[in-house]
Amino acid sequence: MKLEFEMDTYKSEIKPTWCPGCGDFAVLRALQTAIHALQLEPWNVVIVSGIGCSSNLPHFLSTYGFHAIHGRALPVAEGAKLANPELHVIVTGGDGDGYGIGVGHFIHAMRRNIDITYLVMNNQIYGLTTGQASPTSEKGMKTKSTPIAGVIENPVDPISLALASGATYVARGFSGDVKGMSELVKNGITHHGFSLIDCMSPCVTYNKVNTYDFFRERVYDLAKEGHDPSDMKAAFAKAIEWPFVQRDRIPLGLFYRTEDVPTYEDLEPALKKGPPVHQPLGVTLPGRASINSVGSMMSYARICRSRGGVRAGLSAEDHTHHNRVHRRVCVRRRISGLPCPDVPGGVSTVVHRVRACRGGSAGDCTPLSSEAVRTGARACASHRAATQISRHPSRVRTNLRL
Ligand code: SF4
Repeated sequence: MKLEFEMDTYKSEIKPTWCPGCGDFAVLRALQTAIHALQLEPWNVVIVSGIGCSSNLPHFLSTYGFHAIHGRALPVAEGAKLANPELHVIVTGGDGDGYGIGVGHFIHAMRRNIDITYLVMNNQIYGLTTGQASPTSEKGMKTKSTPIAGVIENPVDPISLALASGATYVARGFSGDVKGMSELVKNGITHHGFSLIDCMSPCVTYNKVNTYDFFRERVYDLAKEGHDPSDMKAAFAKAIEWPFVQRDRIPLGLFYRTEDVPTYEDLEPALKKGPPVHQPLGVTLPGRASINSVGSMMSYARICRSRGGVRAGLSAEDHTHHNRVHRRVCVRRRISGLPCPDVPGGVSTVVHRVRACRGGSAGDCTPLSSEAVRTGARACASHRAATQISRHPSRVRTNLRL
């Protein structure tokens, strides 16, 4: 059955805490619009971030998310992609995170041409730490960390750095143009290879130079000026235009794209047999000949309670946890028509769904109709509590598949 996802399906219960007017709102909207337009299954999307105002973004979408440490979003994302290349892996972060402390990872991810999409919310300042100069702050800019002479270093130019490092999709968006940015993000996600979208995302609180007006007066569309994104030399010429050559015109849009370069996943011998998540682990547990894959190990954990758990050699605490996990999963099995190993006959799916609610106990939930469950199962306090953790993958899956 082909499911249709509403725009709100991708929205989480957690509201952004960004300053009103922050450019990051537009990037969030552009990303949500792009994954909705592509109708990506939320459980097949992973959004990884680093540290900074913008790196809070994964919390605001109902997909898998990983809030990593400063500058290390890309290695985490690469690991997720290599473990399961079938996932759509998207990385979000800021200029300090990606072009400063994480710049080494940035270069190496691009030279590998690993198939992930990187959205950098570039506000040319450290916003979270209240306004210090970042790697993309303009020369001469006075900030908290450069109060006397202003910035004396040349800024990093992410577009020419990406071109030189081997990225196969290089674009620049602007928070004042959500529609244009969401097109760039959508095409970046469908691109086979590393895609960088450098999003000019004004920090309205700490950067009083690179404001919305600053950009509106200067930006122009590369496509409208006849730029050919398959021409790397032309892309370099456009890349250095701002901020190195002049400060009056800022090109937006797609600088460069090629599909002719194989990705890291295309070349990695370990992936020839398929995604590692489906590969044999070679682990043996008591009572079972072998654990063939990560999936099979999880199934084993789920059914351990019904089998007494003795054979698994697990503690009582583990049994409780595994049983809880199993209850979430059994709804899915029933939907897919598979027999559920744990559930005694006659217990309805809905009751199980209600009991599976992580936010409440089995005793205080009223069994709900399938329709009520589908629309969010928010009829009781414990379910309302459960919606607070709706980003949990099993919640996403359960809510959508019922
Ligand atoms: Fe956005 Fe700047 Fe506020 Fe951070 S400090 S949320 S970057 S406006």
